[in-house]
Amino acid sequence: MTDKKPAEATGNFCNSCGRNIAAIKNSVTFKCPNCSSMISRCGKCRSRSVQYTCKVCGFLGP
Ligand SMILES: [Zn+2]
Ligand SMILES: [Zn+2]
Repeated sequence: MTDKKPAEATGNFCNSCGRNIAAIKNSVTFKCPNCSSMISRCGKCRSRSVQYTCKVCGFLGP
């Protein structure tokens, strides 16, 4: 569950829980409001309103 991934792969994994978003419905990929780097969140974390953190600029969002 905690195996390391290349930084380039972050677009396909939930920013909050690390799951592969392709396997979870209602998942989204969007740009960081602060620095425009790509952030992905799975449907489960969206429904729970889990916070996400931009790994590039440290932006914390709902
Ligand atoms: Zn998640
Ligand atoms: Zn950012």
